[in-house]
Amino acid sequence: MPRNTKFCYTCDSDEPHRPLTGPEKLWLKERTSLRNVGGFFMCTAPNCRNVRAGFNKRPFDPVIRIPLPD
Ligand SMILES: [Zn+2]
Repeated sequence: MPRNTKFCYTCDSDEPHRPLTGPEKLWLKERTSLRNVGGFFMCTAPNCRNVRAGFNKRPFDPVIRIPLPD
């Protein structure tokens, strides 16, 4: 399995993920009040953008999806 392929809870399948960009980390910090969001990844499947942690497929309930950039 490729290194960035992880299980996506909302896709219910293994999908490619990528680390969050700087603006996405800022957004997630404000959204969650977490101080460190370096361990989170975003699903890059079309129209998904669900956020998961490296070792937790479902860190948020309800799930959080990164908004599309303006
Ligand atoms: Zn997904």
